[in-house]
Amino acid sequence: MRKLDTRTIVVASHNAGKIREIADLIGPFGFDAKSAAELNFVEPDETGTTFEENAAIKALASARASGLPALSDDSGLAIDALDGAPGVYTANWAEKEDGTRDFSMAMEKVEKALAEKGALSPETRTARFVSVLCLAWPDGHTELFRGEVEGRVVWPPRGEKGFGYDPVFQPEGYEVTFGEMSAEEKHGWKPGDAAALSHRARAFKLFVETCLKA
Ligand code: IMP
Repeated sequence: MRKLDTRTIVVASHNAGKIREIADLIGPFGFDAKSAAELNFVEPDETGTTFEENAAIKALASARASGLPALSDDSGLAIDALDGAPGVYTANWAEKEDGTRDFSMAMEKVEKALAEKGALSPETRTARFVSVLCLAWPDGHTELFRGEVEGRVVWPPRGEKGFGYDPVFQPEGYEVTFGEMSAEEKHGWKPGDAAALSHRARAFKLFVETCLKA
């Protein structure tokens, strides 16, 4: 495992929701971080078929373009009744013909697919959010960190907080969706905290515990 020995990195993302959450997570560690969006880096094509491959594509693109270590996130919602879909294609399900993304439409598509499978009762709607964080260096070295959170898909969507599919995901053991949680509740984690809730925060905890030099 290669350790990260600088606090100057690029956050290899163009997704405003992810950039905000990663900024919250790295906040306590004194990082000097700019996002790929701020640096006007071209968004690479996500041609992989796994979260790990796509996370590496994004982190390597930013590391090579900047000459700095880069931290990416590839994530998605895997629904059991849909055989793991939308999975690595979670963002694609939100894509409209004009290239913009519409997550209300994406959540409706998910609901329609679940209805077609007859998956309407809560116990048939189990799912997990997955996040793979990749730290890549300009020389091509990568380290990967995977976090998952179990839950179920609810309908109708609830809550205005968060981003993406948050309003339809209710984590196991909670009565509220990610869309109804504060940022702190969903992905707050700092050293010393025993556990993190969100998939991204769980992956980040692994990154800190294994890769970050004190
Ligand atoms: P990608 O990693 O860029 O392929 O996109 C993953 C997609 O999964 C995002 O566009 C979001 O729609 C969705 N997603 C990932 N993490 C979350 C989350 O924490 N909340 C809600 N949606 C998420």
